[in-house]
Amino acid sequence: MKLEFIDTKAENAFDLLCGKVNGCVLCSRMKDSQRVLNHSSGSLDAEIMFIGEAPGRLGADNSGIPFHGDKAGHNFEELLEFANLDRSRIFVTNAVLCNPRDESGNNSTPTKVEVHNCSQHLAEQIKILNPKIVVTLGSIALESTRHVAPHLLTLKDDVRTANEWFNRILIPLYHPGQRAMMHRSFANQRSDYQFISEEFKRLTKKSVSSKLQTSSINHSVFLIVKEIFAHLNSIDYFKLHKLFYLIEYKYFKKFNSRLTNAYIVRQKDGPYCTDLHFQKIKKALPELVIRNKAGNLILNYSASIFAPPSEIDNKAKEIIIEVLKDYGQLTSQAIKTKVYLTEPMRKFLKLENEGKLNLYNVPIEFNQTVHTAIRSLK
Ligand code: SF4
Repeated sequence: MKLEFIDTKAENAFDLLCGKVNGCVLCSRMKDSQRVLNHSSGSLDAEIMFIGEAPGRLGADNSGIPFHGDKAGHNFEELLEFANLDRSRIFVTNAVLCNPRDESGNNSTPTKVEVHNCSQHLAEQIKILNPKIVVTLGSIALESTRHVAPHLLTLKDDVRTANEWFNRILIPLYHPGQRAMMHRSFANQRSDYQFISEEFKRLTKKSVSSKLQTSSINHSVFLIVKEIFAHLNSIDYFKLHKLFYLIEYKYFKKFNSRLTNAYIVRQKDGPYCTDLHFQKIKKALPELVIRNKAGNLILNYSASIFAPPSEIDNKAKEIIIEVLKDYGQLTSQAIKTKVYLTEPMRKFLKLENEGKLNLYNVPIEFNQTVHTAIRSLK
C-alpha cells in the first residue's frame, strides 16, 4: 500500500493559499502574528462555511484552531452540537486571519482597512470551497463578505434570513461571543443554528444527519470521559487526550465505526480533541477539580454517589477498560510513544518525514486512516 497526497485542485489551491497567507504582511500591526488558516479549519468539501471576526488571543491565536479555546469558541462548538452540525463536515474561518491586539495586548476589533486587506484571502477561500451556504458571525464578518461581492444586508435587519448572494446563500448571524449575547440571547442563537440545519436540508434535500453528522455515533464525548474517570480518579490532561484518542482508535478498529463525533486533530504533541478542552470538561462535569502541577493540568473527578448508572454500552466499556489496562498507568512520554505507533500517526509521520506535507492541525479521520488530503493507493 502506497500513500500519496491527493493532487486535486482544491487541496493544491488551499495549500498554496495557506502559504500565501503565512507570508502576508499587508496589515502592519499583525505582520508578525500567527495566521489561523490550516486544515483544522475544516473540510474542503464543506457545504457550509462559517466566517467569524478574527482569531481571539486566548482562542484560535493560541490553539491554531478557528473558534476554539476561548469562551466564544466554547459557545460556538455548543451551538454546532445543538444543531447536529459536525465540526469535521463544515469549514470555519475569519474575516481577518490574524489576531488584532490593542496597545495593551488585548483583543481589538479589526479596522476597515484590515478587513479589506484580508478579504482577498476570504474570496479565495470561498472560491476554493464553493460552499452552498455562507454564515457570517457578527457585523465585521458580514462586512467582509461585501468586499467579496456586494450586498445590502445588515445584521440588525437581516439576522437569521437566507439571502441569495454570489451564487450561494448568505445567512447573517450574531457572533457567539459573550458581548453579542446582550443583543441575541443564547436561546435565540440556538434557534439560529437550527435554522442553518433546516436551510441546508432545504437546499440539498438531504437530512443534516445524512450529510453533516458522522454516522453510527452512539456516545457523547463526556460519557466516555466519565467512564475513564470511573477507573482513574486522577489524570494528567495531556494523557487524557491520548487515552481518548486510543479509545476511539481501538473502537474504530474493532467495530468499524466511530465511538463519538469528537473532532481530533494532529497537533505537535500528538492527537488533540477539541471537545476535551478543560473548560468544556469542567462545564460538563461540575464536580471536576483541576490543579496545576508544575505546568501540567491534573484533573480529579469523583462522581456523586447519587449519579445515575453509566449509560455506556458494553462494547464501549470493553474498549475503555482494555485501553486503560494497557496504557492507563503509563507516563505521558510513554503513552505519547504508544500513540505514535498507531497507524494514523505513523502515516502522518511518514508523510512529514518524506517532506511531502505539513500535517500540523490536520483532522484525524479514522475511516480514511489519516485525512482526506491523503489517499491510500494500492
Ligand atoms: S489579517 Fe489577513 S491581510 Fe492582514 S496580515 Fe493577516 S493575513 Fe494578511
